[in-house]
Amino acid sequence: MTDRLPMILAIDDTPANLLTIGKALGSAFDLQVATSGLTGLALAMESTPDLILLDVMMPDMDGYETCRCLLANPVTRDIPVIFITAQNSPDDETQGLEAGVVDFISKPVNPSVLRARVRTHLTMKRMADQLRSMALIDGLTGIANRRCLDEALASEWRACQRACLPLALAMIDIDHFKRLNDTYGHPVGDTCLVTVASALKACLGRSHDLIARYGGEEFLCLLPGTELAGALSKAEELRQSVQDLGIPNEGASAAPVVTLSIGMAVVIPSAAMTPRQLVDSADGQLYEAKRTGRNRICCIDLHQAG
Ligand code: GH3
Ligand code: MG
Ligand code: MG
Repeated sequence: MTDRLPMILAIDDTPANLLTIGKALGSAFDLQVATSGLTGLALAMESTPDLILLDVMMPDMDGYETCRCLLANPVTRDIPVIFITAQNSPDDETQGLEAGVVDFISKPVNPSVLRARVRTHLTMKRMADQLRSMALIDGLTGIANRRCLDEALASEWRACQRACLPLALAMIDIDHFKRLNDTYGHPVGDTCLVTVASALKACLGRSHDLIARYGGEEFLCLLPGTELAGALSKAEELRQSVQDLGIPNEGASAAPVVTLSIGMAVVIPSAAMTPRQLVDSADGQLYEAKRTGRNRICCIDLHQAG
């Protein structure tokens, strides 16, 4: 979260209740309101608030049903929901917790209790968001990590399969990186990884393109919806941009600077193949690129290969 005001969505079919909530929260929050479960869901999807205050008793779609829908949707499932309810028997609370709410505030709403609970859950949400993003980011380079790549690969695989679109994957390995470490020292090696990672990332334009550190001095690049020709020209751009950095590596065989070898595989995903096989094919091509002299790209079109 940046310095913008925390956004809170209040859903209640009684406008007077929304007014009370608005008064209690004051100007420290960006409050959005909806007067039914359905319009609340649409607003939650559109603006992904930091927290939702949800009335339990509403006509048509009640609070329980609304909460279940929020949790079932990947866009809204991490938004904490607080029930605002006149029903506060243990049974009601159990039912609410089972529907996935994080807390209860009883009616009539006490303004200080509301503010305090809202602050607590916003803090917890911010910490959970930080943990979620740290789990997907490589600590050294700040780009996506292997776990992030694996998740993106699984979902892009399904998306490309549904749309009958090609999916290209490049495995990228720094040439003679061990010699760079041996010649200039490990800290210089670390700096090199950071510089290379940001150069690679700068080459990617489309929102679904992804570059990840896969391990050591190895990166993976995912290019959904990209044909072999387009993927090859992107790989060439990646290779050239790192060579152009001119990071010295005197011990390297291909050139006295840091270079990349890239193995690329492209496929139109189908049930006949797994994402793992795409990674293995790219790895095979990377091996070819190393074997035939490094600082080059080798590729395979798995669709053509049969
Ligand atoms: P090739 O051209 O065949 O890829 O040779 P290479 O030397 O790049 O490959 P090799 O797999 O032999 O060595 C990789 C080296 O990368 C060895 C390892 O110490 C180094 N390395 C892995 N992770 C890091 C890191 O986070 N920082 C630094 N400085 N070095 C790392
Ligand atoms: Mg290497
Ligand atoms: Mg390697």
